Amino acid sequence: MKTRMAVVRTPGAAELVERDVPGPGETGVVIAIRACSICGGDLHIYKGKHPSAPLPMALGHELAGVVTGIGSKVSLVAVGDRVTVEPVIACGECPPCRRGEYGYCDNLSFHYRQGQGALADYFVADERYVYKLPGHLSFEAGALIEPLAVAVHAVRRCNVGLGDGVAVIGAGPIGLLVTAVCKAAGAREIIVGDISAARLETASVMGATRTVDSGKESFVDAVRRETDGRGIGRSFECVGKEETFVQSMRCLCKGGLATVVGIFEEPVIRVPAALFVSQEIIVQGSQGYCRDFDTALGLTDAIDLGRLVSHVFALADVDKALKTALNPAESPVKVVLKP
Ligand SMILES: [Zn+2]
Ligand SMILES: [Zn+2]
Repeated sequence: MKTRMAVVRTPGAAELVERDVPGPGETGVVIAIRACSICGGDLHIYKGKHPSAPLPMALGHELAGVVTGIGSKVSLVAVGDRVTVEPVIACGECPPCRRGEYGYCDNLSFHYRQGQGALADYFVADERYVYKLPGHLSFEAGALIEPLAVAVHAVRRCNVGLGDGVAVIGAGPIGLLVTAVCKAAGAREIIVGDISAARLETASVMGATRTVDSGKESFVDAVRRETDGRGIGRSFECVGKEETFVQSMRCLCKGGLATVVGIFEEPVIRVPAALFVSQEIIVQGSQGYCRDFDTALGLTDAIDLGRLVSHVFALADVDKALKTALNPAESPVKVVLKP
């Protein structure tokens, strides 16, 4: 059996190559992909700027599809099941894996880094990473379980709870999903900043109680105004730039906690370090997920993932889809490809 698969060899150009689909072996699951969404990481690869994924590189890891084959020892899913995949490969043997913290695996890898991208017709994953989709969920929404799990992980690390106030900087897909998960977690006040009016409008639908066009007004001033000058307890940096990192620190109240989710292309930035001591703030990072997929799947009743799908393309149009995802004039949120 053959599959088409998107590969980037030179920056700014993606092409479909033909590959054999590996057999399922004992514990593998063969999935006919029905939807795969483009992630910020794919765009970094497409530009040739991903810090740890040099070209040539396969694209895609946010997928949903139908099981078409299972290995001899697979018991968790059956042929015909609608599924999504947690697209990581942990070794299972290092100390973090043995503690159950496979997100910290010493040998953590990803299918696309091992040559198997999900912008393709078929995908093969070990059954331990395959999750059944709830019946009501479309394949497009199913592909977005992975970025939703990223948001769940970040919100968990930040311990957002009933009545909390949070600021979300950046209303791209992850910022929008962080907004939605904060709302589901019981946050009372969710202030979202971005420079795109269209994205801020979507943020309001996803749960923002106040939006700030940070191209027109200072985000930090706006948060301070909303909080009697005190600042807010928790912030999420979902952009990956010096300016927004500094905003995520400055909008906090004393003792506040900033969680950085954005991916930085710039290797070094400058921050107002005095705030760590004078305000006793904490800044932490959040990457990927670890045991967050079940929670993400459980939140699909409360969060309208389909609302984030802005464009749908055929897999054959992968290069056009990537260019659309990079073009602000197209107001892309999530661009989905269907084989
Ligand atoms: Zn992703
Ligand atoms: Zn490991």
